[in-house]
Formats: sequence, C-alpha cells, structure tokens
Amino acid sequence: FTSQLSGRVAVITGASSGIGFATARLLAARGARVAVLARRRETLDRLVDEIRKAGGEAMALTVDVTDQASVDAAATAVEQSYGPASLVFNNAGVMLPGAIEENKMQEWEQQIDLNVNGVMRVISAFVPQLAKSASAGIASDLINTSSIAGQYIFPYFAVYSATKAYVSHLTRHMRVELGPKNIRVAMIEPGCVATELQGHVTFQGAKDWLANAAQNIDFLQPEDIAETVGFLVSLPKHVNLQQVVIMPTKQG
Ligand code: NDP
Repeated sequence: FTSQLSGRVAVITGASSGIGFATARLLAARGARVAVLARRRETLDRLVDEIRKAGGEAMALTVDVTDQASVDAAATAVEQSYGPASLVFNNAGVMLPGAIEENKMQEWEQQIDLNVNGVMRVISAFVPQLAKSASAGIASDLINTSSIAGQYIFPYFAVYSATKAYVSHLTRHMRVELGPKNIRVAMIEPGCVATELQGHVTFQGAKDWLANAAQNIDFLQPEDIAETVGFLVSLPKHVNLQQVVIMPTKQG
C-alpha cells in the first residue's frame, strides 16, 4: 500500500471484471477510496473484501449503467459516504461484433446503450462531483475507456467501433470544456486485453478472428491498463495526458 492517491475518491464502472476490477484494486492499493460499480454484486463484494483485508477502503454499488436512476443513486451514495468523487473511470462496455447483413438490431442497440448512453449517464451523474472536487483544489479526473477500434478499421466491428469513436471524440471535446475548470479528461484506447469481453461474442466470423489473434498475440493483461490509469491520475495537477493508445507489442 502507498498513500500516493490518499484523499482521492475513485468511482470505477465495470468493476466486476477485467480492466475495471484490476484498476479498482490498483487505485485502492495506492490509497484512494474506491466505489466499485457493476451489476454482479457477489463479485463486487469479493473485491471490496479483498481491498479491505489489504488495508484499503472500498464500497460496492450494484449499478446498471443502462438505467439513469441506478447511476444517480450510486452518485448520491458515493457522495454521502466518501464525499464528492475526484476520479471517475468510465469503463463499463460490451463488444458484440457481427456482420451488418445479419441485422442484429438488438445487439447494435445493446452496444449503443451501454458504450454510448451508459458513458453519458455516468458523466451526467458524476461530473458535478468532479467539479466540486476540483473547486476544492483536489486533482480531478474523468477517464473514459475507448478502444483502438475507435480508429482502426476491422470487418464486423462497425457498430462497436462506432461507439468507441464516439467515446474518443467526446473525450477530446470534454477536455477542452472541463480543463478550464481544472478537471482532467482522458481516454485510454487499448488493443486486445485478456478479459471477459471476448466471451460475449456470438458471431462466428469474429470469434474466429479473435481466437486467431489470441494465438498469435500476447494480449495485454487488465493490470497493464490499471497501471496506465494509475499513471494518468498521479501526474501533477497541471498535466492532462489526453489520450493513451496501448497495444500488445505483437498486435499489428
Ligand atoms: P469485461 O467484460 O471483463 O468487463 C465489462 C464490465 O462492464 C463488467 O464489469 C460488467 O459487469 C460491466 N457491465 C456490463 N454491462 C453493464 C451494465 N449494463 N451496467 C453496469 N456495468 C455493466 O471487459 P473489459 O474489462 O475488457 O472491458 C472494459 C472496457 O474496456 C469496455 O469499455 C471495453 O469496450 C473496453 N476495451 C476492452 C478491450 C479488450 O480487449 N478487452 C480492448 C479495448 C477496449 P457486470 O456484468 O457485473 O454488470
């Protein structure tokens, strides 16, 4: 444990697995109080337990980011327990590649509702708290998880990639708007990371592509992204590293 992030209140969405889980653990180990948000309560409880046993502070909040009331309730709970958030890792997302001609409107909508509207719901609920923290002189960070899919072109990834292009462009705009208020805004654009994300894919063409990639590339680990978040939020307050593209070395 270090006290590098002591005094920071971190909110992590998508904290029940993968990148969010690893990031919550790392931020807590560096002294932040962390609120971990996702739908799967048991996994969150296990994470909180582990953090507390190691001497950190954490709270679990069952949240569905497709439901504004659920996100708003979490924002109230965080502020009541820990004070205003000063670090929001806006990270929950889903990837469901598929051929456009399969016409899976339900999967398209699911990705848009989580990766685009979900990101906006979290922004709506937590940016006021980030502003309060910044006004109080506390370093204040909004970090959105985008993807290299936001800039690379892959067959079958049109809708997912479009959601991530949205997140990247949104982030650039928000940085310019919130920077003058002393809120840093950043995006992380990872290549392939070994998490549960690939496990939700139903389309065979994309499954084959991902299986082939997994054989030929040493995927990033969630901890690699957590380290990146830890780095961004520990920079001096006047430094906003806006965009990080982080790739497995072997990924083209
Ligand atoms: P995981 O599938 O391991 O994690 C996704 C997280 O999102 C889970 O904690 C899940 O929790 C949560 N989540 C899903 N739906 C909802 C919902 N409706 N409400 C609240 N939480 C929800 O994947 P990753 O860790 O890989 O993904 C994290 C982010 O990283 C995503 O935005 C993804 O697009 C992005 N990314 C991932 C890459 C990769 O290769 N893995 C590459 C580039 C970007 P629960 O089910 O408990 O709700």
